Amino acid sequence: MLLVQKYGGTSMGDTQRIQNVATRVAASLVADYTNKFQKEKQHSLESKQDLKNTILSPHNKIVVVVSAMGGVTDELLNYAKCFTPLPNERDLDMALSSGEQISAALLSIALNAMGLKSIALNGRQAKIFTDSNHTKARIQHIDTGYILNLLDEGYIVVVTGFQGLNEKGDITTLGRGGSDLSAVALAGALYADYCEIYSDVDGIYTTDPRIEAKAKKIDKISYDEMLELASMGAKVLLNRSVELAKKWNVPIYAKSSFSDDKGTLITTEDNIMEKPIVSGIALDKNQARVSLIGIKDKPGIAAELFGKLANANINVDMIVQTIGRDSKTNLDFTVPKTELEKAKITLNEFSANADIIDFDNEVAIVTIVGVGMKSHSGVAAKAFESLANDNINIRMISTSEIKISILIDLKYAELSVRTLHTAYNLDK
Ligand code: ADP
Ligand code: ASP
Ligand code: MG
Repeated sequence: MLLVQKYGGTSMGDTQRIQNVATRVAASLVADYTNKFQKEKQHSLESKQDLKNTILSPHNKIVVVVSAMGGVTDELLNYAKCFTPLPNERDLDMALSSGEQISAALLSIALNAMGLKSIALNGRQAKIFTDSNHTKARIQHIDTGYILNLLDEGYIVVVTGFQGLNEKGDITTLGRGGSDLSAVALAGALYADYCEIYSDVDGIYTTDPRIEAKAKKIDKISYDEMLELASMGAKVLLNRSVELAKKWNVPIYAKSSFSDDKGTLITTEDNIMEKPIVSGIALDKNQARVSLIGIKDKPGIAAELFGKLANANINVDMIVQTIGRDSKTNLDFTVPKTELEKAKITLNEFSANADIIDFDNEVAIVTIVGVGMKSHSGVAAKAFESLANDNINIRMISTSEIKISILIDLKYAELSVRTLHTAYNLDK
């Protein structure tokens, strides 16, 4: 079997945890992954004999993708922001990518010290080619020849997550949480049997277990539902990694690096027998609301505004325009809080077209996701009713086939998650 395993920042948090990851990787070399994980045995590797068996008879090939040690990326970002709120993005990528280089090297040192054959590669050495969109680059292709040769030579290949190189040879990063994307992209390009994403939770829950302790673990979830949850704030997986996994049909297991639980399988809808109406609830506290009041109601105005924002590379979500009156209308939308400063610069250029431009940082978006919504009515009504019962005002609503997103005041963020979780019986 060929496996890609990704270990996040918490799992790689200190040298003891890196040693724990090394031990798990060693165990995975001999673990039985056949029969869809049913027979999986995690060897504790406590005895010398276990270690010897692992070295002598590995039956799996493993590529390990790692994040920077927990907190390191934030620390590097803060250093850069000491000089300017908007650091030069090319140079920022060079600084941010260093975190993964350290953790990958340390893990490989630990594996070699255990008597295993391991090698660490950075994004350039792993030949992960991206576009030049610094700080949120897209992977264009991966030249897998070198990694495949190393695997054939019996190496465990440890690859830095979150980074690649552009056509000029400059280092790029893939956006926060981007190691998930590196792992899925490698799994796809290498035709791996599974991609395992290890974090501090043992799977995908009906909502963030840090917000609702009664959240339940889900055995299997469809790519589409996971994509909506991840896009709307469930940071357990990066949305772009789920999108890619769906496109390339890469089965993902979300697991914990601190337990042996089999985790949650993220797979196609066809592989899931029981389809709940609502599968989960996500919370996004990183969005800000922008309101343009009294803008000219004429063809081309939205195209001009959103064209400018797109050119500035700003992600816009939840757009609501009201019916115009007296040739004026109002337009509301959300942007990530991290992009609000950039958005303000663009909106300044547009200010002649609106009476008032207003911003609100004190908002959150709560989202209900479920494939069963396609065929059931009354799902939205239930959400509105239960929020009303808790006196939570709804500021904006947007829906798709399998989700309902509601913008509320930030102070009600966690309460609304718990309210909706109970309303849809997700704790049962
Ligand atoms: P890593 O640093 O390993 O990439 P993350 O912190 O990005 O891990 O993701 C794991 C966290 O995601 C968990 O600690 C949990 O609080 C959060 N999370 C949010 N929504 C969910 C959910 N629906 N199921 C499980 N975890 C979730
Ligand atoms: N280290 C990067 C971050 O903190 C990438 C990752 O962890 O996935 O965002
Ligand atoms: Mg993450």
